[in-house]
Amino acid sequence: MTARRDLRFAVVGAGMAGILSAVTLRQAGMEDFTVYEKADGLGGTWHANTYPGLTCDVPSHLYCYSFALNPEWSHMYPPGEEIQQYFADVAERFGVMPHIRFGDEVVRCEFGSGRWQLTTAGGHHDEVDVVIAATGVLHHPQYPEIEGLESFGGAVFHSSQWDHGVEIEGRRVGIVGTGSTASQIVSAITARVERLVLFQRTPQWIMPAANPAFSAEQKAAFRDDHALIEEIRTNASQVYDTFSGAIVDAASPMMGIIEDACLANLEDNVEDPALRERLRPDYRAGCKRLIVSGGFYGAIQSRNAQLVTDAIDHVEPAGVRTVDGTLHELDVLVLATGFKVNAFVRPMSVIGRDGRTLDQDWAQRPEAYLSISVPGYPNFFMLNGPNGPVGNFSLVQVAELQLGYIMQLVERLRAGDCKEISAARPALDEFELARVEAAKKTVWSSGCRSWYLDDRGIPAVWPWPFQRFRDEMATPRWDAYELRG
Ligand code: NAP
Repeated sequence: MTARRDLRFAVVGAGMAGILSAVTLRQAGMEDFTVYEKADGLGGTWHANTYPGLTCDVPSHLYCYSFALNPEWSHMYPPGEEIQQYFADVAERFGVMPHIRFGDEVVRCEFGSGRWQLTTAGGHHDEVDVVIAATGVLHHPQYPEIEGLESFGGAVFHSSQWDHGVEIEGRRVGIVGTGSTASQIVSAITARVERLVLFQRTPQWIMPAANPAFSAEQKAAFRDDHALIEEIRTNASQVYDTFSGAIVDAASPMMGIIEDACLANLEDNVEDPALRERLRPDYRAGCKRLIVSGGFYGAIQSRNAQLVTDAIDHVEPAGVRTVDGTLHELDVLVLATGFKVNAFVRPMSVIGRDGRTLDQDWAQRPEAYLSISVPGYPNFFMLNGPNGPVGNFSLVQVAELQLGYIMQLVERLRAGDCKEISAARPALDEFELARVEAAKKTVWSSGCRSWYLDDRGIPAVWPWPFQRFRDEMATPRWDAYELRG
């Protein structure tokens, strides 16, 4: 037993999870920390993504911090810009801004002599006791390998790097991809462009959802009585719990109900039988991340919209040529082709005990005990790390639960119980074995291509009901950790 210690922290990333960490540290009386953010603004994914139609398909009152409820949300599903503003307001209100160092990326993080040595791209050096990696999941754009892409004569960009200098009004716009991002863009811009061409490699199941605005009266009531917001959060949370129980049990009756809703949406809302067949997936709903949209089917049936299901052969200066020989002439090409999902804290170079690197330890694939801690990397904790609950959930809720857990680990360091804490190897191995077995029973394993699947085709996600995650996050099992010093 040693004396209580004052700890210095580095938080990597000033997105939703980084801001959460900063507020939580301050509230716990720990002011000695810096938040490193490589971008010139906060908000993470909400800073990077600015595409037309950007919305969060998780209800607004659930997609916010429990300690900063927001009576002012304009809609049931919040627009991206509003979410970005919300995080900026919280950072301001909770005194986080002075702690953030913008425009400097942490490129190296090395454990030595009991502390983490950080180096940034700008050459800044820091030495801390604890690193909280809040680097996000869907961050590094996945560019498609399409022959001739660079030869395109118009503007081409990834959805997460929308070029607002490019006019789309009255122009011919092509979109590659049919994920959540593409569905939002198509819904938002079809009425604005001269022609919209959607290049679909795989059709998607779509859960219908309207997005009503909150009235002035509703917002006033929320302002007066936060219990009303809490009630919405509780109800939404229960819906997600039910949903999580369904997707992790592919044979469950609830999964059937979800499938029926998606099927009815397709049957009832796509008029042309030929188009309907081209939009009909041949895999189970929920296998890919479920798309939630009230606008996609309407937009794709517009007179100026075209769904192209012939595979792309190549891109040429005038547009996209599909394998049937058709040239689809375009002015703008948007690559809504998703993200590289197994980078996590990388490309930051992380060097743990005995000179081992995360690149070595994750050479096969990223693993972390409960998605938070890696054996041999003491006092290095991840938020929304590998194999955690991603999907149709509120990642804010997930990060809050994880951070509550991490703070319990931190408290052992603060109390002087030990100097170094990281997951024990047997605990991670056991966790991974159980996780992989459970993952095989989920609907994500039911036969489709998706970003959830790892190199073995195993879903790289939390494969149990959400309540189990809550239970795990309530208190660490100390025998799963190695405490040293
Ligand atoms: P995504 O779900 O990974 O979808 C990528 C799309 O691009 C797929 O349709 C894929 O086709 C297609 N594609 C990739 N490479 C291609 C190629 N070479 N040729 C033709 N098509 C190609 O990406 P995303 O839509 O950006 O969404 C990623 C994740 O971000 C979502 O699953 C979700 O978790 C999150 N997100 C959330 C929200 C929200 O509202 N909460 C909104 C947007 C995004 P295949 O299906 O055939 O692979």
